[in-house]
Amino acid sequence: MTTATATIDIAGLDGRHVTLAPEQLSDLDSRVQGRLLRPGDQGWNDAVSIWNGMAARLPALLLQPASAHDVAAAVGFARDHGLLLSIKGGGHNIAGTSMADEGLTLDLSRMREISVDPQARLAQVRPGCLLGEVDQATQAHGLATVLGFVSETGVAGLTLGGGWGYLARRFGFTVDNLAEVEVVTADGAIRTANHDQHPELFWAVRGGGGNFGVVTRFTFRLHEVGPMITGGLIVWSAERAAEVLAAYRDLTESAPRELTAAAVVRLAPPAPFLPQVWHGKPIAGIQVCHSGANADADLAPVRALGSPIVDLIASRPYTAMQSMLNAMEPKWLHRYWKAEFLPRLSSEFLDAFRSTAMRVTSPLSQSVIFHLAGAINDHEDDDGAVGNRDAHYIGGFNATWPPGAAADPHVAWARDGWERIRPFSTGGNYVNFQLAEDDTTRTAAAYGTNYQRLQRVKATYDPGNLFRVNRNIPPAT
Ligand SMILES: Cc1cc2nc3c(=O)[nH]c(=O)nc-3n(C[C@H](O)[C@H](O)[C@H](O)COP(=O)(O)OP(=O)(O)OC[C@H]3O[C@@H](n4cnc5c(N)ncnc54)[C@H](O)[C@@H]3O)c2cc1C
Repeated sequence: MTTATATIDIAGLDGRHVTLAPEQLSDLDSRVQGRLLRPGDQGWNDAVSIWNGMAARLPALLLQPASAHDVAAAVGFARDHGLLLSIKGGGHNIAGTSMADEGLTLDLSRMREISVDPQARLAQVRPGCLLGEVDQATQAHGLATVLGFVSETGVAGLTLGGGWGYLARRFGFTVDNLAEVEVVTADGAIRTANHDQHPELFWAVRGGGGNFGVVTRFTFRLHEVGPMITGGLIVWSAERAAEVLAAYRDLTESAPRELTAAAVVRLAPPAPFLPQVWHGKPIAGIQVCHSGANADADLAPVRALGSPIVDLIASRPYTAMQSMLNAMEPKWLHRYWKAEFLPRLSSEFLDAFRSTAMRVTSPLSQSVIFHLAGAINDHEDDDGAVGNRDAHYIGGFNATWPPGAAADPHVAWARDGWERIRPFSTGGNYVNFQLAEDDTTRTAAAYGTNYQRLQRVKATYDPGNLFRVNRNIPPAT
């Protein structure tokens, strides 16, 4: 417990600062079991660090709740004092929406319990968990739910924005696998939301981000997966990029749902799995994860291209597949991503994609297409706010450069490529890839016809827009 001895100025919801007296801070402290941190306290630097260095912001005060009751106390405190409140799950959002400058942050990293019921095929997951922790716990029973492919990403933010990964073609978006949530709403109530209780709230959190409250427990449905799958990367010289991308299109157009593939064009990183002579040279690769039978037959067309620089596709644990790319995505580099959902890979799209990819400005940047389609396209009644059920791919440009280097050339590269591929978009985009600079038009486009319903749910559960440090959905008036 921290003993508050000084006043503290915190950014308020109305743009003005709120000065909290020591006794007000002590009051909050006495009502929670978790830790209240101020700049300079032990653990502060870790708690405020996020993945995208370009989006860094510094709160004035941070609470690490230990339970849903702590969260409820903090939400009530923020609301009553009119404080700018942000919520941190895994801190991986590219727009840096887990932090607000000079605000109050709830850092959920101490709420990390996972319990798996293999008979019921359900996992209860607290919101501070990272993807890899959930994969490890569920794979101990040969089970998995749909999560992304960098295992240090937070479960909470990924899920609330929709979520997809190597299993999405089989089992849908992450939110399609959500059976229930426990959520603290702006009035401080701890609610259970599912198809029967608070069904509109449950619909909204399945894609609507952190707009409706702080989720303190996710209940995921699980499926039999692995524990061994066939997966990995196969790489060619980018001189063959046109051929590789055409083969990627052919592969994905006829792939079974058990097979998910991503195409990547970039300068080869200095990774031990690539021959040194290739480091820094342009390469085109296909990353695959096949979680069914017949992997060799299904992957034969890719291998038929012949003469790769390396072929790392092999039988490996699903958990290894899920963490294979972690080393490529360290914290604190500066990032600027631009991506669109795509209905197909036309030749014109692939030309625009390839010509941008070949003009890349940084050895850390990548041009990526990820195959979706399959189960995410299976539209059902009441399938959540996530939308974008017409997406077959997501593709775009991930600009990355070291802190201190000029951002302009890298930002210009990603933006220029994005302008070229926009004409091929479904019109939808992924809310979890939006940047701080994106406006409400782009957020509305991410939800299509679901947007107005989301605004109505927001007006019911958060009419004062307490939860606004996110890809914000203003309440309907
Ligand atoms: C390296 C990398 C790989 C990625 N790969 C994938 C992928 O394969 N598939 C995919 O779908 N996405 C992927 N993403 C995008 C990812 O889904 C988003 O970055 C997501 O926001 C990360 O969640 P987080 O909890 O780490 O983020 P945070 O920055 O902590 O939070 C993101 C947002 O969610 C809100 N939030 C967090 N926790 C809660 C909560 N408990 N209740 C209410 N609101 C909350 C925050 O306030 C914030 O607005 C990737 C991102 C990165 C950086």
